[in-house]
Amino acid sequence: MSVSPLETLPVELLQPIFFASGHNVALLHASDRISARLSSDFVYTSTCNHYLKNILEDRISQAAAQTSIFASKWMTWAFFKSWVIKTYEPSGCLCGLTPDDGCFDAQWPPNFDNATEMVFSRSHLPRLAFIKARIPKKLLRGPWTPDTVQFLQFLLWITSMTVNWSDSESRQDAIDGRARAIRERNLEAVELFNHNRRLGKVASLETVRFAVLEGGCDRSIVYDTMFTIGMWGPNVALDCDELDRWCEERMSEGNPKGQWLKTKLEELRATRVAYKGTTVGYLSPTGGELDSDAGDYDGGATDRLVVKQHKWNQPRWTQSQWRWRRFRLAYRRRDGEWYLLRRGKVHCLQRVSALS
Ligand SMILES: [Zn+2]
Repeated sequence: MSVSPLETLPVELLQPIFFASGHNVALLHASDRISARLSSDFVYTSTCNHYLKNILEDRISQAAAQTSIFASKWMTWAFFKSWVIKTYEPSGCLCGLTPDDGCFDAQWPPNFDNATEMVFSRSHLPRLAFIKARIPKKLLRGPWTPDTVQFLQFLLWITSMTVNWSDSESRQDAIDGRARAIRERNLEAVELFNHNRRLGKVASLETVRFAVLEGGCDRSIVYDTMFTIGMWGPNVALDCDELDRWCEERMSEGNPKGQWLKTKLEELRATRVAYKGTTVGYLSPTGGELDSDAGDYDGGATDRLVVKQHKWNQPRWTQSQWRWRRFRLAYRRRDGEWYLLRRGKVHCLQRVSALS
């Protein structure tokens, strides 16, 4: 195979060409030879600075370049963390501003282990919030290592990235990734899928059935999945003979999981029946509120019920807060921007692009 003249250029010439091209990411993927020559932290950092820090005129091309960057092999969790530190350490906050420039309640250092612990408000957004790339397939399909879970959690919490649902491969990866998280009994990964509509549909009793029959009935995973059904899925069907039969069979074997799951199913169904048809609003006041103590038992280290209160699944929202959240999420799904609600209508009070 013949080699193009560009591929024979020394790195010292190729790098300036790449920068002069406006950091054209197509060059990084043009050929193995060119991408190998441009493969350096210097080039990658400069590329990230160009596309992830600035807001460019052509937002569509920028989003495409961002997608390409996050899909690249070199964009690992370790590289991304080091880039974030290098980029925002001088200002001392993920908003990219110093207190003199208007930063308040600085978020520093970033909580990479649990991004949901970082609090931002509509008047204090992280600079990375404007990133509208597609979530890369490598972060959707698993395997669910701590790095993968933390990377995905950080992007979901801080940026406006979404799954490319029009791409059948990405769609399938998200579905398979959720199933794999259940099979791997990775509670943190399952929680991301359960509590982020950007990663797919609301959990259903079929998800619970899968977690019980295919996923070994990890009680923490089953509980969290049922919790989200109550919270997000007021119209989800709650009948499943297969699950009821599973409970009865385990109970007859003396397996305490049978009685526990039966209790949870009854609890979920009773909650729904009791509040169905009331006029309390978008969600019933008891939505998602299962009693973790009811039916619990000491199953030892391998069968312990873990119930977490994540920032994205706090159950006690007021009705108006729920409405605000619902509209905001619905709107973000549409175009990935940050919008706020005022007097029952969605208003664009502060688009992220206005920060530039
Ligand atoms: Zn700040």
